[in-house]
Amino acid sequence: TQILNENFNKETVELIVDKKIWGGKGSALITMSCLGIDVPPGFIVNTSLCSYYNSYNSIPSEVENKIKHAIQSLEDTLSLVFGSIDNPLLISVRSGAPISMPGMMDTILNIGLNDEIVEGLSKKYNNPRFAYDSYRRLLHMFGTTVMQIESNLFDLPFDYLKISEGVTSDHHVSVDGLKKLINTYKNIILEQSKEDFPQNVYDQLFRAIKAVLDSWQSKRAIKYREIYNISEDLGTAVTVQAMVFGNLSEKSCTGVIFSRNPSNGDNEIFGEFLLNAQGEDIVSGIKNSLPISIKMEKSWQIINNEDLSISIPESMERLMPDVFVKLKNISKKLEYFYGDMQDIEFTVENGRLWILQSRSGKRSSLASLKIANDMVEEKIINKKQALKIIPIQTFEQLLHCGLDYSFIKIPPLTCGLPASPGAAVGMVATNVKDAELMAKMGKVILVRNETSPEDMSGIAVADGIITARGGMTSHAAVVARGMGKSCICSVSGLFVDGKNIHINGEKFPSGTYLSMDSTKGEIYLGQIPIIASNIPYEFEMINSWINEYKKIDIHANAETIGDIESAFSLGATAIGLCRTEHMFFSPERIFYMRKMILSKDHSDRVFNLDILEKYQQHDFEKIFEISKGKAVTIRLLDPPLHEFLPHDDKEIKEFCIQSNSIESDVKLSLAIKKEHNPMLGHRGCRLAITYPEIYIMQVRAILCAISKLVSERKVSEYELYPEIMIPLVSNVNELAICKKLVQDTFDDFCESLNDNDLKNSLSKISYKFGAMIELPCAALQADRIAEICDFISFGTNDLTQTTLGLSRDDSANFIATYVNKKIWNNDPFVTIEQSTVGELLKIAINKARSSNPKIKIGICGEHAGNPESIPFINSLQIDYISCSPYRIPLARLISSQV
Ligand code: PEP
Ligand code: MG
Repeated sequence: TQILNENFNKETVELIVDKKIWGGKGSALITMSCLGIDVPPGFIVNTSLCSYYNSYNSIPSEVENKIKHAIQSLEDTLSLVFGSIDNPLLISVRSGAPISMPGMMDTILNIGLNDEIVEGLSKKYNNPRFAYDSYRRLLHMFGTTVMQIESNLFDLPFDYLKISEGVTSDHHVSVDGLKKLINTYKNIILEQSKEDFPQNVYDQLFRAIKAVLDSWQSKRAIKYREIYNISEDLGTAVTVQAMVFGNLSEKSCTGVIFSRNPSNGDNEIFGEFLLNAQGEDIVSGIKNSLPISIKMEKSWQIINNEDLSISIPESMERLMPDVFVKLKNISKKLEYFYGDMQDIEFTVENGRLWILQSRSGKRSSLASLKIANDMVEEKIINKKQALKIIPIQTFEQLLHCGLDYSFIKIPPLTCGLPASPGAAVGMVATNVKDAELMAKMGKVILVRNETSPEDMSGIAVADGIITARGGMTSHAAVVARGMGKSCICSVSGLFVDGKNIHINGEKFPSGTYLSMDSTKGEIYLGQIPIIASNIPYEFEMINSWINEYKKIDIHANAETIGDIESAFSLGATAIGLCRTEHMFFSPERIFYMRKMILSKDHSDRVFNLDILEKYQQHDFEKIFEISKGKAVTIRLLDPPLHEFLPHDDKEIKEFCIQSNSIESDVKLSLAIKKEHNPMLGHRGCRLAITYPEIYIMQVRAILCAISKLVSERKVSEYELYPEIMIPLVSNVNELAICKKLVQDTFDDFCESLNDNDLKNSLSKISYKFGAMIELPCAALQADRIAEICDFISFGTNDLTQTTLGLSRDDSANFIATYVNKKIWNNDPFVTIEQSTVGELLKIAINKARSSNPKIKIGICGEHAGNPESIPFINSLQIDYISCSPYRIPLARLISSQV
């Protein structure tokens, strides 16, 4: 530190400060020391001890010796002695993981006090209240953290003492009261842990260090790491520092500030402090804190729900103006150094300011955009740095509404997979008809065991969708995500039975109000108010910076007009996946689709396809018109056929009446068509190999749409970029047949045109031909496939299914167990499984580029919109990713950060 003080520069500090070694807190302390900011002296035991300790449950003796030496250095620096009665050194032992895990791990203050030293401390400072207050704090913290005694047992006698003395603030308790309390605490420790509080200070120190290391494996820390995907291997560092005392006098305090307002992003210091108190009092948030600035004084009572008739509390700016100015300057210095808004912990000991911690501050989504934008305008950071300080959840949170948690007083009824983010509140409807009826009266949540194309009109009118089964790539999840609707899948303990739903054995009739937070996957009973999404004006500016830095194009998976419009407005530059089977989801179209699938023979099928062609042409016209100037990748039909067929007797009967068919004939056809494993059955381009007329119909529909738009001069031939994509390709021979089919249809169509001008225009449209790589066999033959393609797109949903041998539809109920047992780190349908699916992607990309260097390569599975997968996908040297419209801003932001 001394060397760095002389030759300080940012690069030097960054070189030595490695969070992985020193933890976040330790690194910040080193940095602040280098910047000449007062931090209490101390030393850091680096994170490597944590992994050793986790394996052997002990601290090696050489490390123990080093720690003792470091204590001696600290004694020399401060002219204090650890364990001395007259001149004691007191220390804090603090955790510090490389990635911030607020409140998850332990800290112990005032180590080095015992029955004798407390008297020495009292004499030294001539301040018994301070000495005994520090000792009761040590007993409490040591008792709960090291000896694992319930905190309540310590809180109750303290509360009782304050009531009996008629005081409300901790620091007004009498010395006699504190002494009695200390005796009570020692008895609690003896009773609960069957041992006395250790009087040996080194004993205290090493037990505290072990407790901090143990806290890395505490239940809450493990859960936190699971939620935020933090590796267990990181471990925590342990920071041992000399105590500075915020509880020494009325000129002492402790507090936390943000360098900017974390709610709205305003450039003003924001925070709170507590007079005559120690750090944990503020962190636990249970004591009466005071506002930091004069500006905050008025709003303080409202924020804290305090009685407005009580006089307005005085801020630090008024009470300790010098300290306030210093604190403000330091917050700016740290913000400038880190290039981000800071969350700073401090203590003031008799008027002298000490900084205990500084880290990037958590902020609301609105604030995060304002702060990034303002800091660029203030020239503290550049645009590239600004993009990095925007938390990735920001865009998702801004685009979707959320539940107002201030109204949530009850735990969730149940939870499931957060399949499509947002929030919804409404009446339960268990079928499409009810959903449509109820939607006329209010908001609806469609609850199904699983959804199928027939549920589309129910999904369309519902605000939220809940399913008992199905994973993150199930029908409900994909459709809801595309529409930007709230959706929770694979809900634990849910079963839909007629017009009732059962959750964990409890029955709720249709019409029951539910509230869902699908960003978290939680379902609540009743109506919880919703906070609307709010896009601030900085959004557009930041989007323009993203364009400068991202290297990959972001396309959209969309096929309806609404979704395509949303996609373009959210920044998509093309449609990367138009799933044509999704265009047949309305009841009327499903009927003709069913007729087509169940056709008796070729001519019957062609007859039904002619009807479907009209629908397709009409849709393509609209799609090409709104996508003018942008590529549209149309994936030819890929329906697992079972999704479209009637499911039960009722549906079969309805179909027979509508189609004037004989029930036994239909049942026979269904039996013949029945597949045991439809996901691996007659789907994708296999349909075109057996029934070429299906793809011919689709290509004709594309060409008819284009001809109409061009002849009506709605779109010129130069603004049309159709791309035809063949799904579920397994083999180059299969693809070659499809390619010929497409080209022949194009040629025949042009040939049949009487209008020469139109013929001429169409000949100028060079459509692109491509394949979806979604089977391992296709990935391994990507070189051969690429030779006859203009582009390939990886369907990572199916590629995950087929590589891992894991059904997309049937695995959701056991994946969680696999993740809990650490067989997988994540649900592989959510986060790309890099060592298998990822490897196949790399192999296929290399092969494809080796045989066709100019080939355009993309990824269009759901992983393309997953924050954890996007950095990996960016590393693959592909040209584009294609994801659901509402994930586009997030995919763009992460790609620019990468
Ligand atoms: C895929 O398999 O990744 C894909 C995009 O296609 P679908 O989800 O429609 O099968
Ligand atoms: Mg697929």
